[in-house]
Amino acid sequence: MTGGSRGIGAGIVARLAADGAAVTFTYARSHERADAVAAAVVASGGTALPIRADSMHERDVETAVTRTVERFGGLDILVNNAAVASVAPITDLTMDEIDAMLTINVRSAIVAIRRSLAHMGAGGRIINIGSINADRTPFPDQSIYALTKGALASLTRGLARELAPRRITINNIQPGPIDTDANPADGPTAQAMLGVMATDRYGTAAEVGAFVSYLAGPDADYITGSSLNIDGGFTA
Ligand code: NDP
Repeated sequence: MTGGSRGIGAGIVARLAADGAAVTFTYARSHERADAVAAAVVASGGTALPIRADSMHERDVETAVTRTVERFGGLDILVNNAAVASVAPITDLTMDEIDAMLTINVRSAIVAIRRSLAHMGAGGRIINIGSINADRTPFPDQSIYALTKGALASLTRGLARELAPRRITINNIQPGPIDTDANPADGPTAQAMLGVMATDRYGTAAEVGAFVSYLAGPDADYITGSSLNIDGGFTA
């Protein structure tokens, strides 16, 4: 899985490891936090291996997949979680910021999927972490971020058709506001977000981890090509 050192990704690592999966996860900068996530899993009797791999670089992502297969002998579940969001009017964003969103949020997911499919057999699971902003962007300055998440939804629909004959499912989880470094529940935009939601709280990384766990399991075999919201009624 990509981007497991913090936030939602760390919640997914913890849950999949608790389910019994041997997990590798990438990170770009947060070396100590990645080690702490892995140590917590190991302390609970699970298996988690952090891999430094910058999703800006195709080779890093490909190497992370290769190392996973070499370490564990195969790959059953891919979770594309790593993403960045630069929030600003389209004319204020630099092209470097735009390229980073397109590369990390979309291109690296494509790279990971292509490389993982070489190793994935029947029963395989691909789970993208999109965003409710693909369907609804009630605030300004998120156009490119929303575009990247819309791309994941489209990619998911298209690939479901390609992968069904191989008995591999692909789905796209679209979180609403989840309490992380990127979107703290006590941050400056939290009240505005709560104002457009049905519920009166942010979601947690553990709740997203539980959703990933379900989609990764055998009970979800009939779900593919779907974008599924976990958003506290953000899109209700
Ligand atoms: P965070 O910013 O808290 O964490 C991002 C994670 O992605 C970190 O582990 C980070 O690693 C990793 N990452 C970022 N850039 C790279 C890179 N270039 N290469 C490898 N890893 C990288 O984000 P969240 O946990 O909030 O979000 C996780 C996912 O959920 C994203 O896809 C986001 O778009 C989506 N989402 C989040 C929502 C929210 O409210 N929090 C709402 C909707 C969607 P490092 O620590 O090394 O930087």
